[in-house]
Amino acid sequence: MTEIIDGNAVASEIRDELTESIERLADAGARPGLATVLMGDDPASQTYVNMKQRDCEEVGIESHHVDVDGDAPPEELFDTIADLNENDDVHGYIVQAPVPDHVDYRNVIRRVDPAKDVDGFHPENVGRLVAGDARFRPCTPHGVQKLLESAGVDTEGKDVTIVGRSDIVGKPLANLLIQKAEDGNATVTVCHSRTDDLAEKTRSADIVVAAAGVPELVDGSMLSEDTVVIDVGVNRVDADNDKGYELVGDVEFESAKAKASAITPVPGGVGPMTRAMLLYNTVKAAGLQEDVDVDLP
Ligand code: NAD
Repeated sequence: MTEIIDGNAVASEIRDELTESIERLADAGARPGLATVLMGDDPASQTYVNMKQRDCEEVGIESHHVDVDGDAPPEELFDTIADLNENDDVHGYIVQAPVPDHVDYRNVIRRVDPAKDVDGFHPENVGRLVAGDARFRPCTPHGVQKLLESAGVDTEGKDVTIVGRSDIVGKPLANLLIQKAEDGNATVTVCHSRTDDLAEKTRSADIVVAAAGVPELVDGSMLSEDTVVIDVGVNRVDADNDKGYELVGDVEFESAKAKASAITPVPGGVGPMTRAMLLYNTVKAAGLQEDVDVDLP
């Protein structure tokens, strides 16, 4: 029987454990604070930001939000960032991507105080991660590691194929999984849009992580028996329902499930984990800044 890895259940356990860490902070007179910054009015970004705020309230993290006009000069966003860097009530914050075209996202990330960079995208935090001394693991890769752990999948000595080399998923996940660590020690192949013979790379893997943003790119014919499949993709495709669309992953679920020993669904797999790990990083940031041992899971 193929195990369906339940991201909602694992995320809920992590949130419960975080509540204990938040109580430790409260005992020391501190309340963790997360801010979201949204430049422009992209509806999907608005939804993500709302969800992050709701998640915060649920576990007792104070949420802050700043809207920046989509037509404003970059300096207005930079001023907001400078204010958040100085605000002691805000232990971590994220600048929701994408930012409008006239703003260079890299220039934005460089201005975030690395101690408050709970996305883990600042070059200092990227460097620390690669060096095996991560301050904040980026939320989606960290969520993938937690899902593997929850399913009892030991990554040591395993062949992992990651489909996608983005800065937010593929690259950091590859770096985490090759580390000499209990949740690493894997042999990792990173595939991308120029990879020759993707199916050969996925078939030779014990664990496949699909993060390409291409609907149902990986199907059962590309997998060996008993592969563990983690589907990071979230893609909107046209559908004959009230909304006019449905969400599908980067994996063709039914055919992959027939081959896999364990698989994550979309929705309900990686998505809830990404949200939970943002709360995790916020609590970690608060612990470091308030000098409280938050004893994270
Ligand atoms: P991205 O567009 O930045 O990167 C996609 C990567 O996939 C690129 O490296 C590209 O080279 C590779 N790729 C594209 N087509 C390919 C192909 N045919 N074969 C092999 N590789 C190919 O995307 P991203 O931001 O990393 O996101 C990837 C997917 O994951 C998207 O669907 C996104 O919505 C989703 N996502 C989900 C979560 C979550 O929490 N569930 C978080 C982040 C991203």
